[in-house]
This record gives sequence, C-alpha cells and structure tokens, in this order.
Amino acid sequence: MYTKAEIINILKDDSQNEALFLKADKIRYENVGDEIHLRGLIEFSNICSSSCKYCGLRTANKNVQRYKMSPDEIIQCAKNAADIGYKTIVLQSGEDKFFTREILCKIISEIKKLDVALTLSIGERSKDDYRAFKDAGADRYLIRIETTDENLYTKMHPNMDFKNRLNCLYNLKELGYETGTGCLVGLPGQTIESLANDILFFKNLEADMVGIGPFIPHPNTPLKDTPKGDFTLALKVMSLVRILLKDINIPATTAMETIWPNGRILALQAGANVIMPNVTKFEYKKKYEIYPGKISKDACYDGNLNNQLLLEKKDIEEKIKSIGRIISNTKGFRKNH
Ligand code: SAH
Repeated sequence: MYTKAEIINILKDDSQNEALFLKADKIRYENVGDEIHLRGLIEFSNICSSSCKYCGLRTANKNVQRYKMSPDEIIQCAKNAADIGYKTIVLQSGEDKFFTREILCKIISEIKKLDVALTLSIGERSKDDYRAFKDAGADRYLIRIETTDENLYTKMHPNMDFKNRLNCLYNLKELGYETGTGCLVGLPGQTIESLANDILFFKNLEADMVGIGPFIPHPNTPLKDTPKGDFTLALKVMSLVRILLKDINIPATTAMETIWPNGRILALQAGANVIMPNVTKFEYKKKYEIYPGKISKDACYDGNLNNQLLLEKKDIEEKIKSIGRIISNTKGFRKNH
C-alpha cells in the first residue's frame, strides 16, 4: 500500500513510468488474469438537465441535436448486442427526467431476460430509484466522482452538490451494486495532490470498478480553451489504481483512445482489463458528443446494424488477441466478491 506522499512522488516523477506500467500489468495478470471483458455501451439519451462545465451535453449547450431512444429501441439495441456475444450491457445517458423509475425498471427487466449483466450509468438518482433498479435486475452502476477536490468539484458542476454525489456512491454500495466510479485527469486547477486523493478515495470506497479518463475540451463549453488532459498522467493514475485495488475491473477508456493512438491497447498493458465498445446506432452516437473526436467506426457502416456491430467487435477482438490477451465469455463480475 502506497502512502499519499509516495503516490504524489510517483505521479510527479516520469523516470520510472515503464516500471510502474509493468508492475500494474503484473498485478492485473495475477489478480484478474488475461481475460478482457467487453461491455456493450448504449448511449440512450443525450438530454441532460445538468451543466457540467466540461461536458458537451450540458443543458446550456444549445448546439446539440437532442435525442432519446424509445424503450423499445433501447431493448432492441441490447438484443442486437447480446446476439453477437456481449455479456454485459451498459446503459448510459444524460440526466434525462423522461426516464422515470417505472420506465427504467421496465427496460431493465426486459434486458435482463437476455442473460446479460446490466450496468447503469445514468447519474444521480434517489436511493429509492437505485433500489428499484436493483430489484428490477440491474447489477452494476457507474458514477464517477469526477474529482474529490470539493472546491474544484463545485466549480465544475454548477447547481450540483459534491455531498450528494458521494451519497449516491454510498447508497449504491449499500444496496449491493457492483459500484464503479472514477475521475477526470486534467481539469483546470486540478493538482497532483488532488489526483492522489482521488486514488485513495477509490481505495477507501472499495470501488468495484474505476474508470479514468483524460479531460478533452469541447468547443461548446466554458472549458473550450483549457488544454486537454495528459495521456501519460491519466495512464499513471490508472496503473496506481490497479496496484492499490488489485482485483477490480478497470476499463481502457474511450477518452484515452481519443487523445492517443492505440491508447486503449496501451491502457490494457498498464492495468486495464475491460473495454466498452459502443453499440449505439450511428445516427444517435454521433449526437452523444460529451467530448469531440470520440472514436467511432462509422466509416464501416453499410446500413446493416448487425454487420457494423460485428465489424467493430471483430476489430477490437483482433487488437486484443494481438497483445496475447483473451476475450472473456463470462459476465465478468468482480472476482472474489
Ligand atoms: N450523466 C451520467 C453520465 C455522464 S457521461 C453521469 O453523470 O454519471 C460519462 C462520463 O464522461 C462522465 O462521468 C465524465 O467523467 C466523462 N466526460 C464528460 N465530459 C468529458 C470531457 N469533456 N472529456 C472527458 N471526459 C468527459
């Protein structure tokens, strides 16, 4: 276990990065093996009542064509993904009040008939909502704390409350979800010390999943002129999370691939064991622009959704095999828990 001072030193000193990545890779191998879990991500609504300063979907951005998929479309999309072999479906959206507890519970129970694990990533809801989603069959929940620096959090999230976000995480844990969180790397004013605090927070929370992504400036947000986050620093934060939390699930995030060629493969070799391919229809996913340049294989789209999904899956599977890793055919729950 590293102390905070040691974590800060590691983050500041770039002379030992290769050793750090190797160590994280070894701990990944010893604790979760060579299997990579693919989670099919459905971005079902870009309607959002929040105004996070970094996010392209913020309410205040009027240049977004807003959409929401109908419950039937969402279920069909999950079926397509399950048909081609995805064992986990992730439902993600902005904070869209259309999707009430009742509507979501119906969607969840339908998707659970497909023999898949189901992850939600739909933001802050009441504990009663979280309980109802769990009872309807949801297995996991992702909600990044984004930063544990309360001052910075307050600056980045107008009209949101840091304590409420924390409470969401505690409620999810208490309800028995596999709970995922994470942070952005490169927010304006974020310090190395605050990143060290983030890492220790994930450890104290005993998170089951942690996603780390570099901040990417979106042109229609107040942070449009802020430099993007540093890829290597994000990778180092991720490696430290693997070293400290050992057997959790860690995605190689799309944001990493977006700012660095082959970023996800590098992440898989520095502690990550999960990839979340996007299975949303192109007409929708191009509108789900939380940050610009999100990688997407739209060039291959030939009008046949299943062909496109298969191509994307094959592409990522080939990359995974090329680094000697295996595609998991299990639902990929956290081991030993
Ligand atoms: N409404 C949900 C889902 C948010 S989108 C929620 O609040 O949890 C998922 C993640 O995208 C966010 O948690 C955030 O960390 C990330 N994200 C948003 N804007 C980003 C940007 N400009 N650059 C990098 N990541 C971003």
